[in-house]
Amino acid sequence: IESSFKKAGKIIEKIEKAGFEAFIVGGAVRDKLLNRAVHDIDIATSALPNDIIRIFPKTFPTGIEHGTVLVRYEQESFEITTFRTEKGYSDYRRPDEVQFVTSLREDLARRDFTINAMAFTKDQRLIDPFNGKSDLARGIIRTVGEASQRFKEDGLRMMRAIRFSAQLNFHIDESTLIAIKQHAYLLKKISVERLADEWGKLIVANGMRQALHSIENTKLSEFLPIFKEHNNLLALLLNQKEPFISLEECISYIHLSCPSVTISDWIREWKLSNRIKQDTKHLVVIYHQYDREKLKWIAYQLSPHLIQSFSSLIRRMGYLQKVDFYELQESLPIRNRRGLVINGTDLIQLFPNKRPGAWLEEMLVLIEKQVVLGKLKNEKKVIGEWLIKWHQNVTS
Ligand code: ATP
Ligand code: MG
Repeated sequence: IESSFKKAGKIIEKIEKAGFEAFIVGGAVRDKLLNRAVHDIDIATSALPNDIIRIFPKTFPTGIEHGTVLVRYEQESFEITTFRTEKGYSDYRRPDEVQFVTSLREDLARRDFTINAMAFTKDQRLIDPFNGKSDLARGIIRTVGEASQRFKEDGLRMMRAIRFSAQLNFHIDESTLIAIKQHAYLLKKISVERLADEWGKLIVANGMRQALHSIENTKLSEFLPIFKEHNNLLALLLNQKEPFISLEECISYIHLSCPSVTISDWIREWKLSNRIKQDTKHLVVIYHQYDREKLKWIAYQLSPHLIQSFSSLIRRMGYLQKVDFYELQESLPIRNRRGLVINGTDLIQLFPNKRPGAWLEEMLVLIEKQVVLGKLKNEKKVIGEWLIKWHQNVTS
């Protein structure tokens, strides 16, 4: 982390040498002051995007219409954005136009919360015109400027306030909270994709429960997909003591506890990706086998990237036994179908009188399972003999 800040310092130096100002801004400043892990460092500058493109050899115009250029510097990426304000929010969701400005202060003033509206110079001197540091110390989320007005400019900020309170275990300032209650309906104007980003961060945050209470109290839930149609759902989540491991776990849990909410409904209404849909379905399919099948077979089928979500899900569903699926996976004789010494072609040769069909897949699963459970050695001869005996049994 320290070295990322050093690199950012060197970037700022280059920009200053070219005659402009530049500062580290936003989340990186906040997280650094809190001693939290910093993911990415954003830089704000008086230079225009074209100046930045000229100054640095490796740049990508990722958001050039908002003044953002991505700079690749010593194997790391930095977003460099020209100082700007956002003028006119006639549709309550996006600024009508982005206007470049010359001062850092104006750029900080358009930011959502005081704790997100601080800047560092290259040598980490703090610039804090809205007293973000004192709000950080007291654990308060407060809008920069009048809350109602800031929410009318962009209703997503209401969800962001609650999301940050969950991540940082902060309280939402009294007048900011009142303004959320008054303007909850503004969420109607916000794109589902932006809401989904905030929701996904909120339910994996330490303060999930507190945040869900705020969502209930402010009635933001009346404007969230699925929740607006199922008014018992929030109560279900409010009973959860632990935050979720992933969005996939959250959707699985809701579906398992309330089957009328299908995974497909959820994915469609929240406009989520196919990858999330597949992973969620995977969790639910394996969950349904959990009680009936041997643990090794469960471990074998479980995608490694979903192990933590699955472990959390079964605990949440009331299974108390602790299972280390990583260890179980390590102990398996094969990792996947390709690890079997036998394949479909071998089976066709073993049973020349049978026409290829669904039996092939069924037989492969059968062998796979026996091998995984350690009941059958993964050797061609052993499997062949076992199969012929098994086949005689079922046909006689
Ligand atoms: P995270 O750790 O979630 O990335 P962050 O503070 O970096 O937190 P981002 O969404 O990446 O949050 O935004 C970067 C900065 O841009 C914020 O710190 C804030 O200053 C500003 N910002 C982001 N979204 C808004 C918004 N909707 N309204 C006003 N300012 C915003
Ligand atoms: Mg960020």
